[in-house]
Amino acid sequence: MIIVMKVGSPEAEIDRVNQELQTTWNLTPEKIVGKHKVVIGLVGETADLDPLQLREISPFIEDVLRVERPYKRASREFHHGEASEVAIPTPAGTVHFGEHYPLVVVAGPCSVENEAMIIETARRVKAAGAKFLRGGAYKPRTSPYAFQGHGESALELLAAAREATGLGIITELMDAEDLPALGKVADVIQVGARNMQNFSLLKKVGAQDKPVLLKRGMSATIEEWLMAAEYILAAGNSNVILCERGIRTFDRRYTRNTLDLSVIPVLRTLTHLPIMIDPSHGTGLAEYVPSMALAAIAAGTDSLMIEVHPNPAKALSDGPQSLTPERFDRLMQEMAVIGKVVNRWPQAEPALV
Ligand code: PEP
Ligand code: MN
Repeated sequence: MIIVMKVGSPEAEIDRVNQELQTTWNLTPEKIVGKHKVVIGLVGETADLDPLQLREISPFIEDVLRVERPYKRASREFHHGEASEVAIPTPAGTVHFGEHYPLVVVAGPCSVENEAMIIETARRVKAAGAKFLRGGAYKPRTSPYAFQGHGESALELLAAAREATGLGIITELMDAEDLPALGKVADVIQVGARNMQNFSLLKKVGAQDKPVLLKRGMSATIEEWLMAAEYILAAGNSNVILCERGIRTFDRRYTRNTLDLSVIPVLRTLTHLPIMIDPSHGTGLAEYVPSMALAAIAAGTDSLMIEVHPNPAKALSDGPQSLTPERFDRLMQEMAVIGKVVNRWPQAEPALV
């Protein structure tokens, strides 16, 4: 349920309403300050509350609305019907993810293999315009015999790449035990498709401060995905980015997954959270990544995640879907064309003289 305060409501009155909701009504209100108005969100056992009675609390209450959806904090209504932003400090400055900001590109290998390759990839994607380096230290693999990632030593290599380039780091957390070490290096913690409904992991990443990139489970409905985000938000972390990475449909021969680009306009109406598209896992083949990346920008995504490897043929994981740095560089130029048309391309930084 949300209580919408009138424009220009005095701060003291908003505080009084908050207080009364807690003491008289035994509720846990949450104040959400928007561009023009303040709304007070109420989650939990609100089914029996009478909106008309709540309205009586203050003449400054404009409306009391029920959020009919099962996800509350993730719902667009809960955020004034506006998009929220996730602002992430990186060594090279704060990067904003959200509908009102330029497109953010995240790039890098599927897994961190060794120092030379991660530093080289970081330098190349940075030069092409990426703002974040991705790379797995802990890899969720279908086979226990496949490369599982180098673990903690790979985290150190990511830290070195961050230091060398100023790029932010996004890396996947599979086990809550690794959170302290991973949290020291990652600017964004990735929860992978296979863990989207690992509720105890969601609660744990929700209870810490680093922003979370929540990938869509390969067979998850949009509602299940948003409920997973709700777990993180409910645990106290409001910085969640949703990443579509393809869902499983019936064709396994020509594409790895079916990239559901329709989630972009759908999520826009349902949630305020920023959106990322991963055409690499979404298609599974490097040759299809560029067209899906361009389509995602045209459809209004806030960010893209693209796998890049200096030598895809030798990659320890996801080589077939990884772009070479050269192809990635060219793709960035192609993306700039569409990005400018939809007014989401970052301004070129002034050349140093
Ligand atoms: C990855 O990003 O390398 C990855 C394993 O992704 P997903 O969880 O989407 O399969
Ligand atoms: Mn991968």
